Amino acid sequence: MKTFQHKTATSVADTLSILSEYGEKAKLMAGGTDLLGLLKSKSMVGYPDVVVNIKTIAGLNEIKTDAQGLTIGALARLADIAGSTDVKDTWPILAEAAASVAMPQIRNVGTLGGNLAQETRCWYFRFPNAIGGRIMCKRKGEGPCLAVKGDNRYHAIFGAKKCFAVCPSDMAVALAALDAQIKISGPKGERMVAMTDFYHPLGNALAADEIIVEVQIPRPADNNRQVFIKHRVRDTIDFATVSVGLVVSMDGETVADARVVLGAVAPGPYRATKAEAALKGQPINSETAATASAAAIVGAVPLSRNAYKLDITKTLVKRALLP
Ligand SMILES: Cc1cc2nc3c(=O)[nH]c(=O)nc-3n(C[C@H](O)[C@H](O)[C@H](O)COP(=O)(O)OP(=O)(O)OC[C@H]3O[C@@H](n4cnc5c(N)ncnc54)[C@H](O)[C@@H]3O)c2cc1C
Repeated sequence: MKTFQHKTATSVADTLSILSEYGEKAKLMAGGTDLLGLLKSKSMVGYPDVVVNIKTIAGLNEIKTDAQGLTIGALARLADIAGSTDVKDTWPILAEAAASVAMPQIRNVGTLGGNLAQETRCWYFRFPNAIGGRIMCKRKGEGPCLAVKGDNRYHAIFGAKKCFAVCPSDMAVALAALDAQIKISGPKGERMVAMTDFYHPLGNALAADEIIVEVQIPRPADNNRQVFIKHRVRDTIDFATVSVGLVVSMDGETVADARVVLGAVAPGPYRATKAEAALKGQPINSETAATASAAAIVGAVPLSRNAYKLDITKTLVKRALLP
């Protein structure tokens, strides 16, 4: 690992002042579970001069509820989200997603903000510098996406452009299904970004001088059902090959509203709006579940080695709908 300065931030304002001083040369570190691996492999082009420890910012790890909903500070650890009684009682999909991330060691250190801002796991992007030099690509600012003609079994089937890597965050899927908003603080003040708008094919909405402060999640409608299902190669610890976040609210026996969000199939959490439309006003039974699951993959454009994700997606949507 190359050397860097390590600065400890005491507040959001302090963090912003360090970021404005060092610009692109500074990198925030919360739990460090993603950042340190990237720094060690030197797979990135830009290496930070300064790593800013933000774990020391007081109060940014709180999990709070009020009449409007749930607010989770960016520094809340995934283990705390998975274990929170408030979260488990009213937003169980979030607790399930947090509990599905990696293993206890990562969940005990990794934070919500870090989970959302983590880099893609694309194996071309992460190729270590020590083994013949890093691989350049569009996401790093230069060169084609090698996954298009290469080994693309874990890459995108929806919405990719220039880069076919998928968003690895399980929390993003659950948060998108819950219609969450991310509060970002920067030199111009605070702004809110919808979870569904946070990612784009080459990264996310954060500028180099910004920090995620918290995530706000509205209270779900009465009579709602929430499900998070994740398919992965190794059940003990793995990123999703496909995941589904489902939040439906019922009006008697029929669906009043539905959010069906797919994970690990696109640059960000992908709303399967055709599946949502197929469910609205319908009862949930094997027939409507089959229709919705078929609608979930409409518009998918698989690459040479990842068409298998279509069948997994359909199966997960069906399983989420039929308990
Ligand atoms: C072996 C392994 C298995 C994993 N499996 C899964 C999995 O199954 N599902 C899944 O979702 N994830 C998985 N992960 C990823 C893991 O969840 C993330 O590494 C972790 O959540 C990152 O949190 P952190 O606090 O350690 O972030 P850090 O490593 O500190 O930071 C990650 C990135 O986010 C930025 N960042 C951190 N906090 C903020 C903030 N508040 N504002 C703006 N930027 C910020 C940092 O600058 C950095 O770029 C896995 C990781 C490992 C190593």
